[in-house]
Formats: sequence, C-alpha cells, structure tokens
Amino acid sequence: MPHRARRYLIAIAALAAAVLFRWLLDPVIGDSLPMVTVFGAVAAAVWVGGAVPAAVVAILGYLACYYLFMTPRYAFVFDLPNMVGLAAYLFTSSLIIAIGEAMRRAQARARERSDLLRITLASIGDAVITTDNAGHVTYLNAVAESLTGWKQEDAKGQPLDTVFRVLDEQTRKPIESPATRALREGTVVSLANHTLLLGRDGGERPVDDSAAPIREEGGRMSGCVLIFRDVSERRGLEKAVAARFLEARLLASIVESSDDAIVRKSLDSVIQSWNAGAERVFGYTAEEAVGRHISIIIPPERLAEEDHIIATLKQGRRVEPFETERVRKDGRRIHVSVTISPIKDEAGNVVAASKIARDVTKQRQAEAEREMFATLIENSTDFIAIADLDAVPIFVNRAGLKLVGLDDMDAARKVHVRDFFFPEDQARILDEFFPSVAAKGHGEVDVRFRNFKTGDARWMAYKVLKLSDDKGQVLGFATVSQDITERRRLEDGLRQLAANLSEEGRRKNEFLATLAHELRNPLAALSNMLEILRRTGPRQPAPPPQAVDGMGRQLSQLVRLVDDLLDLSRITHNRLELRKGPVALGAVIDQAVESARPLVESMRHELRVVPSPEPIALEGDSARLAQVFGNLLNNSAKYTSPGGKIEVKTERHGKEAVVTVKDNGAGIPPHRLDSIFEMFNQVQGSLERSQGGLGIGLTLVRRLVQMHGGSVQAESAGEGKGSEFVVRLPIHEPRPAASPAPAPARQPSAGRRILVVDDNHDSAESLAMLLNITGNQTSTAHDGAAALEAAAKQRPDVVLLDIGLPTLNGYEVCRRIREEPWGKEMVLIALTGWGQDEDRRRSHEAGFDGHLVKPVNYPALMTLLDSLGVAK
Ligand code: ADP
Repeated sequence: MPHRARRYLIAIAALAAAVLFRWLLDPVIGDSLPMVTVFGAVAAAVWVGGAVPAAVVAILGYLACYYLFMTPRYAFVFDLPNMVGLAAYLFTSSLIIAIGEAMRRAQARARERSDLLRITLASIGDAVITTDNAGHVTYLNAVAESLTGWKQEDAKGQPLDTVFRVLDEQTRKPIESPATRALREGTVVSLANHTLLLGRDGGERPVDDSAAPIREEGGRMSGCVLIFRDVSERRGLEKAVAARFLEARLLASIVESSDDAIVRKSLDSVIQSWNAGAERVFGYTAEEAVGRHISIIIPPERLAEEDHIIATLKQGRRVEPFETERVRKDGRRIHVSVTISPIKDEAGNVVAASKIARDVTKQRQAEAEREMFATLIENSTDFIAIADLDAVPIFVNRAGLKLVGLDDMDAARKVHVRDFFFPEDQARILDEFFPSVAAKGHGEVDVRFRNFKTGDARWMAYKVLKLSDDKGQVLGFATVSQDITERRRLEDGLRQLAANLSEEGRRKNEFLATLAHELRNPLAALSNMLEILRRTGPRQPAPPPQAVDGMGRQLSQLVRLVDDLLDLSRITHNRLELRKGPVALGAVIDQAVESARPLVESMRHELRVVPSPEPIALEGDSARLAQVFGNLLNNSAKYTSPGGKIEVKTERHGKEAVVTVKDNGAGIPPHRLDSIFEMFNQVQGSLERSQGGLGIGLTLVRRLVQMHGGSVQAESAGEGKGSEFVVRLPIHEPRPAASPAPAPARQPSAGRRILVVDDNHDSAESLAMLLNITGNQTSTAHDGAAALEAAAKQRPDVVLLDIGLPTLNGYEVCRRIREEPWGKEMVLIALTGWGQDEDRRRSHEAGFDGHLVKPVNYPALMTLLDSLGVAK
C-alpha cells in the first residue's frame, strides 16, 4: 500500500475509533462534549499522517459528531452558538494540527539525523563502540563487531573492558581502555601506540584508537564513543618500509665496507660512485674518481675492453665475470676479477652500470707461488709425500713414486704408509717414531724404504711433520725425505777407510819399531866389531877374519834395509820404475842365488837350483827380477830352521815361465797366504821374530812381478809344513837370451888421481883412505867452492862429488868444471844418497859421467871407472 494511502487509512481508523469511543461515552455524558474524542483522532492523524489527513479527520470528525451527538441529534443546525462552537472547534483542531505537525517534523528530522549517524557509523572503516555513562556497551558498528568478535546483541550492556580488551604490545600487560579514561576525565583520550586488541576468539591485532565523551545538549555527559581501527596493514607497511630502509642502509654499508671495489658508472663510462674498496684497490679517492672517465684505471692496451662492456650493457645484458688487468693511481698493475651488471630504471631502461672489481693480485701471486711450489715439489729429487690421518698417502711426488716403485697416485692411495717399511722396521716406526711425531709435531729417523716392485731397500733420512689447520686440528702428516743410500755407502766406505787407515797406522808404527830393531842388530854387531878393530894394533894380533866378514855381512844387511826403505817409499808413491830389456831368466836366478848365498850358507841350508831345460828369455828389469827371487830365497832361508832344504825350480808352462821357490821351513797358516803380500804384514809379531825384515819384501815381490805382467802366489800346507812361492812371468819369445852378464868381478883399478868431495868428513876421508890403500892418489874437499878450487888446482883424473854440499851444490860444481877447458874430459861421478831415476837424470844433465848411491860399493865404483876408461 502506498505510504500516503496508509496514512489516510490510519487517520480514518483513528477517526472511526474516536466516533466509536464518543458513542460509547454517550450514555455517560449525554449531549455534552460531543466533539471531545475527535481531538484525540486529530492528534493521532497529525502524528501518523501529517497535517492534511489530520485536517480531513477534523472536518469529518466534526461533521460526524455534530450529526450524531449534538442536539439536536441527527441534524445540522447552523446557528450562532453552533457557529461559535465550530470556530472554537476549528481553532482547537488547527492548534492541535499545527503542534502535531511541528512535533512530527521535529521527530522526522531527529529520525533522519539518527539514521544518518547510524548509516555513517555503519559505513565508516573505523570501528565504533559507544557506551553509557556506566561504561556499558550501547552500540557496536560492524567493523567493531568484526575486530572484537562480539555481536552487537551480545555486547550490548556488557562492560566495555569485556568487549574491548587491550594489551601493551611490548609488555603484554592489559592496559586501560581509553574510553574508561574519557568517561572518568571527560576529555578526548587517544591510545598509546603499540596497543594490541585481544579479540573474543583470542586473536590479536594492533589497533590505534581514541575515545571521546558523548555530551548531550547542555553539556551533560551521557556516555562515551570509542573509535579504533586495525593497524595491522599499516604496521606491515611501516615494517616493510623500515625493512626496505634498513636493507638500503645495509647495502650501503656493505658497499662501503666491502673489500671489493664497487663502482657505478654511467653509460658513457663516467664514474658516478666510488666506494672505500675502490679507493683501496685503485688508489684514487672518491673525490678524485667520481666524475672522471673509467679509463683512468684501464691500461691503454685494454681500452677496447671497455667498449665491449658498454655495448653489452646497452643491450641490458650482464657482463660475465672475467679477469683482467687494471692500473692503480700509482701506476702499479693489478689483477682484478670484474663483474659488471646493468642498472635499470623502473621502466627497465639501462641507465648505468655497477662494476665490482676484486683485487686478485695476491691470489694470482699465491697461485703462481703455489704453482712454483708444486713444480719444485714435483721436480725435487727428495721423497715428498702427504698422508691422511688413516696413514694413507694422498700425495707423493714424482721422485717419491719412482723411489718406491709406485706407478701413480692411484697406486699410492691403495697402500698404507706401513707398507713403505720392511716388516722388521715397522714396529719401530709405527709404535715409536709416529707417536713421537704426533707428540712433538715433527721427527727424523734413518730408515729403509721398500721398493714395491723390486723389494729393494733404499736408506732414507725420513723427516716427518704433523700438518694442522689454524685451530690446531691435525689434518695429516707430511714428509720430505732424502735418499741417503749413497751417503751411507760412502760413510761405510769412510768408516772402512778410517779403520784401514788406523790399521795401516798401527802397521806403520809396528814397522818403525821393527825398523829400529832391525837397525840396532847390525849396528850392535858393527859396534862390537869396531871395538875389536880398535884393539888391534902393531902389538895386537890382527883382527880375526870372522870379525871383518861379520862387519861386511852386517853392513850389507844395513844397506839392504836402506834399499828396502827406498823401495818402500817408491811403492807407496807409486814411483817404482823398471828399466826393461831382454833378460835371461837363468842368469837372473843365478844372481838371486848369489845374493842369498851368504844367508843360506850361514844357516847351513841345502839349496838346490833346478833350471829349465831350455833357456827362457823375458822382457824385463833384470836387477829387479833378481831382487824378486833374491827376496824369496832370503825369506826361505830366514823362515826355515838351520839345516833346511830350499829349492828353486824354473819351468816353462806354455807361454809362461814358472819359478817355484820352495822350503821345508815354518810354513804359513792358510788364512795368511794372501795377507803376507800386504805391506808390513808379518805372520808373527815383528819383535818376537828371530829373523830380520821389515815386512815389505813380499809386497815388493808382488808389485815387481805384476809390473812384469806376471803373478805370485804363496802356498803352504800349514804351520811348520814349509812354504812354496810360485812366480809366473810371461815369456818373451822373439829375442831370446842376450842378457847382460852380471858385472864381472874385476880387480879394482888403481893409480888414478881422485878428488873426493863430501861435506861429511868421515865419509870423505874413509873413501879417500880406501882408494889410497888400493893405490890411487887422493885428495878431499868438503864444500862446493873448495871442490872447484881443488879441481882447478890439482886437475885430478876423477872427481867423486857429493850433491848436497855447502856453498855450491854438486850439480853446480859439475857444471862449472865442465865449463872449464880442463874440465871437459875430467871424469865426474855423482856420489849421493839420492838414487831415484829423477836424481840420475838430473846428474846426467848437469854433466856427470856416472851416478853412484851411498854407501859406495867399491867393486861397482871400480867397474864404473874402468868402463869410463879412466886410465890408471
Ligand atoms: P819380512 O820377511 O821382512 O818380514 P816379507 O814381506 O818378506 O817381510 O814377508 C812377510 C811375512 O811372510 C814374513 O814376516 C813371514 O812371516 C812370512 N813369510 C815370507 N816368506 C816365508 C817363508 N818362506 N816361509 C814362512 N813364512 C814366510
């Protein structure tokens, strides 16, 4: 039904009710007050329907009630009183209608306002709660319902603190609602920040709120309104902004504190930003760099790089990290690893470039050094290896692999460090050495390494080092070991040499003692015999011939000793020389037999010489060969008890001459058969021996035989069972036997004028005396100048000239005499203690005709003089 029709219907209904009500009152009030109920209907009509329906009700009500209840009833009488009554009625009705209309309007306005407020409150985004003066909820808008979780109907009448529960975000303690304060203080209160609203369902959300008292007109407070909103989103936003801000600051500080150079440059390569890292890496301060072209740090030859970079960036692409060279402000070149990325604006256009450069110079250097070390280690001849904590090799250098016979690292990783050692060394290394390395951090031991392939041993100076990281955590063990096999061999050799030397020293000492002993014997004998001679005089009987023979024997013993000594020196200095020529072996043997004969005879030995059926010719030094067999015969005589048997036998075995010297004497223990040929080696202790000798005879024999291309060997069935020395010499076929016969023992020449020069007076005088006895005329001189003078004055036939002389030496004297006309033909013979070949050569060069070694062998001197044709 339309609104208006409804209003009229209600007005008519009110009128009908008023008429009915008057009709009901009629028996009570009769004719009085016929209109009394109509006023109520008019008032109701004006309240419900407004002025027009009310006017209709007033008019229709008047007409109905006039007709029904006014006297005369059921008729219309228009008289004055009725007219006045009508006027009053109209006035009253109009008044009612006017007041009613005014009230109605006011109410409509109020309702409108209230609706507006309600709609506003319902539609605003904030939550609103109102309370009465006692703080009980009177209203919640929809937002408040959703934030608190309370429905309006549940919340109404509840204390505000039940519906609106707030906590401090930080302390999580309940806080007073601002509404409570607003009610208490009558002022607008806004809530502190960081307030959390606790929803009915237990959920929490940050809120921001304020409360104000509601005052009626006249200022009386009738409650309070609380307005709040969910600030989660704002908080999130704030947090996001703060986070972004923090991130930006973080980035900025990273950029600033980065060790890397971080640079922004425009697309025309102008530097726009320059961090502290860039200052450090390139040496330019930010002030110096910003605004300048990037080429300040690019070496001239690499400028093309920059063009390529910019081209790539302009395409919006990132430049792949690369390594290059840059130049510092101080001109120093550095290696850098560079990453360059485009910087885009919001529209995606490339506006600049960011460049991160890391100084890798040190890394490069470290790499180069590492490379160098690796090369060094690989090329080292030392064994260098690293093993992990399980003692499995993780690295072995090339030399190391080779040394132990491993093909490669794969093979090395399959073995255990233990396997490098021989089983007998393993306990020492694993249980003693390694624990000590673990404790001390390092250690060194000499041990053998086993070759995995051949099983050979190499002696190693095994040095082991514990490897730890910065925190002291043990990572493994390393070794740098040297192969000392050769060194040890040398050391052993040296040790042996030292032992030999000390043995040699001992033998030399022994030799000196022997020498002293050997010298004393003939000297003692000589001194005795000299004493005998002294006592012979005109009245004394002549010296017994045994004494003179004895003196001769002792002297020749002394001479032999001295000869041996000289030979000893020649052997030790390897200066033994042979004067080779064709040699008849038979003659050599005869000579040797002759030289040994005095001793053989004195020992009453039976000497048998068995020559070879045919003569044998050799190439050699006959004197030295005679010395060889003389020595052997002498030994046989010496080491055989008196009355023994000695045999010298010469045979030809193919191209060899075999000379055997055999005796039935002391014999030689089997273990000494070789060593007796060593120098100073004698079977018994030297001093206890009954027979003289220096222990060099056999050494000389062996050396001389070897120098002749032959060999000598000792054989003996043992001590007391005799000895046999077998000498083998190569036969020299082409030129058979034409050996110089031993010098014939001639009668000494006599009747010459001889000048004897020797600074040893005794020596000079005794020789002169000897020569005088044999019919020569002699004179003596004792220094060079005197000799020269005597020679000039006396013009002797022969000068026997010592070499070592005061004032002028023998060579000089000889030379000067030869310069004189009278001296050209004079026979000059050097008579000296020096008998080496070198000495002979020198004397020959100085102009001597002959060279004799002291003590002079008288028959030899005479033979020489004869051979030089010095007339008697
Ligand atoms: P020397 O005879 O001066 O001691 P040798 O070198 O001639 O030195 O001899 C070395 C050693 O060999 C002698 O000391 C002696 O012990 C032993 N020897 C040499 N010849 C014989 C031999 N015919 N019979 C037994 N021992 C010998």
